[in-house]
Amino acid sequence: MIQELEKIKSDFLSEADGKSLDRVALDQLHAKYIGRNGAITQATARLKEIPKDQKPQYGKILNEVKTLVEERLAAIRNALTLHDSATPDIDLTLPERRRFYGHLHPITQTLEEIKSVFAGMGFTVEDGPEVELDYYNFEAVNIPKDHPARDMQDTFFVSDKVVLRTHTTPVQARTMQRKKPPIRMICPGRVYRKDTPDATHMPFFHQVEGLVVDEGVTFADFKATIAAFVHRMFGSDIGTRFRPSYFSFTEPSAEVDISCIFCHGKGCRTCKHSGWIEIMGSGMVNPILFDYAQYEKDRYSGYAFGMGIERIAMFMYNVNDLRLFSENDLRFLEQF
Ligand SMILES: [Zn+2]
Repeated sequence: MIQELEKIKSDFLSEADGKSLDRVALDQLHAKYIGRNGAITQATARLKEIPKDQKPQYGKILNEVKTLVEERLAAIRNALTLHDSATPDIDLTLPERRRFYGHLHPITQTLEEIKSVFAGMGFTVEDGPEVELDYYNFEAVNIPKDHPARDMQDTFFVSDKVVLRTHTTPVQARTMQRKKPPIRMICPGRVYRKDTPDATHMPFFHQVEGLVVDEGVTFADFKATIAAFVHRMFGSDIGTRFRPSYFSFTEPSAEVDISCIFCHGKGCRTCKHSGWIEIMGSGMVNPILFDYAQYEKDRYSGYAFGMGIERIAMFMYNVNDLRLFSENDLRFLEQF
């Protein structure tokens, strides 16, 4: 009887060991040894015919053979499963390739946000050339040849009559020349000034200006629009204040401050301990501009405003050096 068990074991080993088996062969082995009519199953059934004194030894060897067969079949099944999951043209041991995802530049992100806030208030987006006629850059926005404002803006001249625009204001002049009121527009874009690069100056930067012209437009309309913009952009708890100022194309003119977004008015380094941050220049449109546009002066009024996009982005992302935006250092850009 015990010899029979030894034969089952040696038969099984000769069939299973050192052979490359497929699933069909594996199933056949399973049926032949531990299936319903398998050799081991039958040997187990014969246990009751074994004389009492031989039973312990027979049982022990039977268990050993059964365990051996079960473990060996399970090992073969595992190896087959692993093999199936690895098709020949995929090398699972290769390290993964790093993917580079692009995203919008922080200046573009800020500009898109400003645009969406004003678009929500019914403003259109207008465009104009960066290489601009002296006439639109200066004359048509009330900066005549002998005007001191021309000294304030160091200009790149392409020729006598052509400049790199020093502000986006010429787009306002061009739009007024092309369209009749009501006008409700913003004009974002790049502008150029002869500045040496440092933490707060660049020879080029971005502005967004806005212009509203219609019948009965008042300074109160302007204040409400700017307050709505500031709340959407910086938070509903941010206050605004208007300080008298001077610009050639607005009269009266005002600088717009917002309560410091870092210290909320308590005073910190960014706001120079004043609790306020200047964000834009603005005012009611100087009626002289309506002459250039051939609008009826008594009928229309309007307001205009302008801000530097880099300046807004510096506040929103807490960046302290203007040059970082144009150096294209990935370590900087990847943070946005
Ligand atoms: Zn502050």
